[in-house]
Amino acid sequence: MENLDEKIKAYALKNAIHYQGKANPGAVISSLFIKGLKKEEVKKVIPKISKIIQEISKLSLEKQKKEFEKIKDLISEREVREGLPELPNAEKGVVMRFRPAPSGPLHVGHIVSNLASSMYVKKYGGKFYVIIDDTSPESTLKDAYKKIKENCNWIFGNVTEYINASDRMDLYYAYAIALIEKSKAYVCTCSAEHFKELATNKKDCPCRKKSVKENILDWERMIDKKGFKQGEAVLRFKSDMKHKNPAMRDFPLVRINEKEHPLQGNKYRVWPLMNLVVSVDDMEFKMTHIIRGKDHRDNAERQKMIFEVFQKKYPWTFFIGRIKFTDLVLSKRKITSLIESGEFSGADDERLPTIESLRKRGYSKKSFEKFIEQRGLTEVDKVISGKDFFDNLKNFDKE
Ligand SMILES: [Zn+2]
Repeated sequence: MENLDEKIKAYALKNAIHYQGKANPGAVISSLFIKGLKKEEVKKVIPKISKIIQEISKLSLEKQKKEFEKIKDLISEREVREGLPELPNAEKGVVMRFRPAPSGPLHVGHIVSNLASSMYVKKYGGKFYVIIDDTSPESTLKDAYKKIKENCNWIFGNVTEYINASDRMDLYYAYAIALIEKSKAYVCTCSAEHFKELATNKKDCPCRKKSVKENILDWERMIDKKGFKQGEAVLRFKSDMKHKNPAMRDFPLVRINEKEHPLQGNKYRVWPLMNLVVSVDDMEFKMTHIIRGKDHRDNAERQKMIFEVFQKKYPWTFFIGRIKFTDLVLSKRKITSLIESGEFSGADDERLPTIESLRKRGYSKKSFEKFIEQRGLTEVDKVISGKDFFDNLKNFDKE
């Protein structure tokens, strides 16, 4: 990166001026990422950033402002103003998405990971899809669909379209068959334990050797109610059984699950898994940029492999750091079970960090946007208590 030291100084000064003289190294790193800093370079850059921030913190706020005036041309004009950092290749508009699973109420964690995407679509123009990830019949709750829409209409306010993944089954099946025909997927009838053992030992699964024709026949046996039973067969992506990351070794794409689906009833017994569904949707909707949680790093890697088979360019991706609350329950399943047990009165119980509850307690949409802007795009997790977090939001509202 050209003028690296000067750029660090400019971002550090900008950040310091905004935060009463104290710059945050994480914010500087995320700005540099946007400008093309490579992950390998981070180690080298951190000591530089610390040194520069230390020097800057000795200056008075007035002095910082003067220094910043001198070098602010190094960063783009829009970045000098407040707001989220620029995305690369976004001038002509962006297509982004949020994929909630209908397994429980949406909460503050969903806002933190996804509000930035909605804000970028507002900023650049384009499309913001909410795709309800309902291809796991066992964890799909009928009531969740309507709630998701209500919550998203409130917190984002710019959803282009709501899509139920389970309405797109024909498309996922077509891609599954295309992968078989390209010899990039096969039906595996090994037990889960046996496959795991093979993968751990970097040994090929015997099902890998089947011809395209045999795989098509086995695929039909998966679809056929009289064919394979639940748990007897999965469709796997043919990646590499010696891949350095064990999680990438011939991962599953499709499985059999006979549980009745809240919307589709018993129409399907073969359900695509997340990596196939997400890849197909991202290709079909022509996503340009994806901001997702760091916990999806392996999934993104798997999805990239599927993109490659279809010779599609993978969208620009950023893995946003999570907010780890020291004292809030954020698991959707846990929240659901606590509501069911009567511990909480409902999804809008004032003690819950659900969107419904936050809205009822009077937090404004704007205060969340402010929080996201101020945090910027960062890969760094933040540990905070619920109280401090919400006090912060209240302060934004006062401003
Ligand atoms: Zn097998």
